[in-house]
Amino acid sequence: MTILVMACLLTACKSEVQCQQVVAHRGFWKTGGSAQNSISSLLNAGRIGAYGSEFDINLTADSCLVVNHDFSFKGLTLYKTKLAQLRADSLRLSNGEPLPTLDEYLEASLQYPEMKLVFELKSKGDPAYEAVAIPLCIEAIHRFGVEDRVEFISFSLSACQEFARRMPDTRVEFLGGVMEPAALHDLGINGIDYHFSVFDEHPDWVEQAHQLGMVVNVWTVDKEQDILRMLELGVDQITTNEPELAQRLIEEFNNKK
Ligand code: MG
Repeated sequence: MTILVMACLLTACKSEVQCQQVVAHRGFWKTGGSAQNSISSLLNAGRIGAYGSEFDINLTADSCLVVNHDFSFKGLTLYKTKLAQLRADSLRLSNGEPLPTLDEYLEASLQYPEMKLVFELKSKGDPAYEAVAIPLCIEAIHRFGVEDRVEFISFSLSACQEFARRMPDTRVEFLGGVMEPAALHDLGINGIDYHFSVFDEHPDWVEQAHQLGMVVNVWTVDKEQDILRMLELGVDQITTNEPELAQRLIEEFNNKK
């Protein structure tokens, strides 16, 4: 009986240890042979058991979706350039990979089916751009059967609203940092993903979000003291360029409880 009780307690502790989750920002790229938003960074995040891997999506001139943080790649504006030009042999990521398409990214992600895909649509809020990009994103998500793995994030409030409307069972987190949780909740958005300075200024927003059943993610937290401060505040997810450091700090943080 005593052994059974102890086993239950250990199980409870284990689940608590997993409460805070690590999202590798642009994948786990700070390692040999990788690059931000590369296929290798996605696979590295899976290899170290990150809860999720974040990546950025842009639209090309011929309505293809590619993985890249900036609105341009090697001096070419993505939405004005066709995919074939962007994939020229002379244009490569710093680790030698071609600019990944979303399809290639989602295909590679199937190697780590447990890992969440923290999917950021880069958008300046242009309705015409989003009217093309969002349906293409959703079509790709369905085609690869990764609906349950996607957590959508964007600085575009209109993109968050539209994604929440079209995929109501999916987690959607606004990145903008300027709205309190209740205002987003009223718009059907079920998460916030703000810079850590926002939570330093509004620490009560973490509890407010939780009261509304919203998830709290924070970017981009790389320093030990910042990660620990956000854990003390009670955030659910740490988005970081240092996922292995965050994993260790979360484990130590929970062991001290
Ligand atoms: Mg991003």
